[in-house]
Amino acid sequence: PLVLGIETSCDETGVGIVHGTELLFDAIASSVDEHARFGGVVPEVASRAHLEAMVPTIERACREAGVALSDLDGISVTSGPGLAGALMVGVASAKALAVALGKPLYGVNHLASHVAVDIVEHGPLPEPTMAMLVSGGHSSLLLVPDVTHDIRSLGATIDDAAGEAFDKVARVLGLPFPGGPHIDRAASDGQITIDFPRGLSSRKDMERHRFDFSFSGLKTAVTRWVQSEQAAGRDVPVADVAASFQEAVVDILTRKAVLACTEYDVAALQVGGGVAANTRLRAMTQQRCDEAGILLRIPRPGLCTDNGAMVASLGVQMMLKGRPASDLSLPADSSLPVTDVQTGLPVHVD
Ligand code: ATP
Ligand code: MG
Ligand code: FE
Repeated sequence: PLVLGIETSCDETGVGIVHGTELLFDAIASSVDEHARFGGVVPEVASRAHLEAMVPTIERACREAGVALSDLDGISVTSGPGLAGALMVGVASAKALAVALGKPLYGVNHLASHVAVDIVEHGPLPEPTMAMLVSGGHSSLLLVPDVTHDIRSLGATIDDAAGEAFDKVARVLGLPFPGGPHIDRAASDGQITIDFPRGLSSRKDMERHRFDFSFSGLKTAVTRWVQSEQAAGRDVPVADVAASFQEAVVDILTRKAVLACTEYDVAALQVGGGVAANTRLRAMTQQRCDEAGILLRIPRPGLCTDNGAMVASLGVQMMLKGRPASDLSLPADSSLPVTDVQTGLPVHVD
């Protein structure tokens, strides 16, 4: 099937067109520059930017993919989670397109899409797959028997998300927003000189919070360390702090992901979400998966951060699996749980 996917959960207006497992084009317009001076995404600014970018981005995706709207077999759209006003722009646009074209519409979960996008890089997902979702708003370990309708959460962060920790620590180090890519770059010039804490890794925590994460203590530890250097009148070694912080995050994430694969006897690990673009995370996960005999799949960095191709990828898989189309009541649900893969399902379907 040929599916156009629309993503507007945050500050990227993404429109991707996917044919089977082939990505034809992924068009992105971002309002990130408009938010940078506020140090975070401003919801009203994002919604307005989506409104302005939507039609030109759809037109560009179709033009570059060499596809006419009438060629499409279906439309998919991020239904949640995300910023309510931003989601509404995408959902309303997708409904209008689906009605105008008389094509089926699939309201999909943004987090499931971060997992599903890997089909355009590495082909169909093994079933089951273990997924580690590490993004700006989430950090979860997911057992995924079927990405189109069966995702089970094994654990998640109990405080900050991994990406949020990167962004907050970047701010402490005086690096620009969003901080993840800046920490990644700074760390490549640094040494791991400071032993920052790995959250929820003590023996007791490994019983009660086996597959959960915590990054807020780490963020506090970094902040205190930086403040004490400043108080002592020393220059903060930004690259070393970045490398040491990054190591702490990546170590605990990959350790628990590999443990989940081993304990649930799942042979493939899929990593998705913006933090999956991180150089050190990619290298350490590969090394530990190789050691454990686990097949690792991480899409290229450009497909890890928010985009339209991920939404189209999940829509394609729903069509291939014969999932029912969503009905037009499908909501923009800012707090949609990861286990609700599809919205607007007819009531008699599971
Ligand atoms: P969610 O998917 O939970 O709704 P989101 O869509 O805002 O959140 P993504 O776009 O998936 O998040 O990811 C953005 C996050 O990824 C930001 O916190 C950003 O700092 C982080 N990030 C991006 N690139 C890197 C990198 N190279 N290293 C570390 N973090 C990164
Ligand atoms: Mg973003
Ligand atoms: Fe995301």
